[in-house]
Amino acid sequence: MEAGTVRQTGPHMIGIAKRHLQSVRRRDFLAGAALIDGRWVTKASTDTVVDPATEEDIAEVSRCSAGDVNLAVTSAETAFGSWRALLPATRGAILRSWARLMLEHSDDLAVLVTSEQGKPLSESRHEITYGAGFLDWFAAEGERAYGETIPSHKPGSLLQVRMQPIGVSAAITPWNFPVAMITRKAGAALAAGCPIIVKPAPETPLSALAVARLAEEAGVPPGVFQVLVGDPIELSASLLEDTRIRALSFTGSTQVGRLLLEGSAATVKKVSLELGGHAPFLVFDDVDLRKTVRGVMAAKFATSGQDCLAANRIYVQRRIYSDFIDSFAAAISKLRVGHGLDATTDIGPMTKAAVANKCRAQISDAAAKGARVFSPKLGDELGENFVAPTLLSDVTEEMLIAHEETFGPVAAVLPFDSEDEVVARANANEMGLAGYVYTDNLRRALRLSEQLECGMIGINTASFTGPPIPFGGWKQSGLGREGSRHGLAEYMELKYVCFGDLTG
Ligand code: NAD
Repeated sequence: MEAGTVRQTGPHMIGIAKRHLQSVRRRDFLAGAALIDGRWVTKASTDTVVDPATEEDIAEVSRCSAGDVNLAVTSAETAFGSWRALLPATRGAILRSWARLMLEHSDDLAVLVTSEQGKPLSESRHEITYGAGFLDWFAAEGERAYGETIPSHKPGSLLQVRMQPIGVSAAITPWNFPVAMITRKAGAALAAGCPIIVKPAPETPLSALAVARLAEEAGVPPGVFQVLVGDPIELSASLLEDTRIRALSFTGSTQVGRLLLEGSAATVKKVSLELGGHAPFLVFDDVDLRKTVRGVMAAKFATSGQDCLAANRIYVQRRIYSDFIDSFAAAISKLRVGHGLDATTDIGPMTKAAVANKCRAQISDAAAKGARVFSPKLGDELGENFVAPTLLSDVTEEMLIAHEETFGPVAAVLPFDSEDEVVARANANEMGLAGYVYTDNLRRALRLSEQLECGMIGINTASFTGPPIPFGGWKQSGLGREGSRHGLAEYMELKYVCFGDLTG
């Protein structure tokens, strides 16, 4: 494998985000005000939003405080009574309008996502459609919170189980899907009858605030959907200690997830956590190599690798190992690196410098321990946040990348010999979010779908998420589920009612 120079899109990155932001038609999307109690609140102190490709300042957003969290919770509590009293179909109609408005404004929203997050514009557009899909789907699912009638174990009685909204909820969301991780939570909460307060990642507040503008326009009442940007520790602490918040949904790292779980204990909140992943991607020697490489490219390089579903360990059966490496390297060498707003870019910058540094550390560690490295050189005009799409082959379990989440465009390939061996190696990880199996053997596919210890498995596909599926992980990848009827249940309490003495 030759490590040449990476394919780069145009070097003219300085000012590109600002120019695109100037062409955003909805100027209010850039106002930077928080949405609290149905009002757009502007603060004297602000946080700066940065284009991760150039590290230029592109916008300012108001910095909220613990006092603002208190106001937001009071407003949400007031709104809860009337929101839960609406017919589910009425709440659904509002959610559908919100989804429609997102699609109508998807060009503007996509520019915001790429400008602050860095992903290619086509992926940002896809995120808007994907994100709006959760609102649409939960609009209908709210009408199906059926409950149960239980055959009674007591003579002359009727036993019912009802699903009721849990109350004011909070969401702490990440920067890699700055729109869809909000709508996946808010769609479920609002459909269930719960108001929700969102604290987005400080790297990507513009997308969150723009989505809030559209929520208001769609008719979401004051207090039902609120967005506060500010210091994560200060705002989260206020959300955690407030007894009026009954449910907390978090997407982010396992490390922060643990802190939030601990912090929720004092007020016994219902906690749902979508945390890190370390997906094994198993390739058996009976596969169609062309289709498999297409799958692994999607599973590794979507969102520039900053995806919790990303293939972190690609296990390839020895007989086809060398052919696989050649085809994979050829596909990787076609990727173009550059600014997400350049239409020809496949891989944008890492959103945070820490992610780029972690990628580089994993590459050096693997190289020092004997991995073969195919890592094209980046041009000087691409700054520190860019990481060249890199292939590491002959990776072993001793290397950092084999057990630490990468969250960037670095692909680790490990050879294996037998099915039993690869299942044991795939499961030998504390993460259990997603897994992938490529094989033409149906019996083997069925066996592996049983044996792999993860919440979601793609068999001969790298594309399986969406509103109807229960998204979530096993082990330290999280608690609870998002999307699907299980996602709705995260915002509901069960109530058991026994009607006795019916014969009297
Ligand atoms: P992170 O956990 O640092 O940040 C996520 C959110 O938590 C942000 O809103 C951030 O402001 C907030 N936060 C950070 N520190 C906090 C603290 N001490 N107290 C309270 N809130 C705090 O995660 P990250 O590094 O920004 O994102 C990458 C991680 O998120 C990866 O590990 C990835 O796997 C995970 N992730 C998981 C999913 C999923 O659905 N399972 C989706 C996206 C990202």
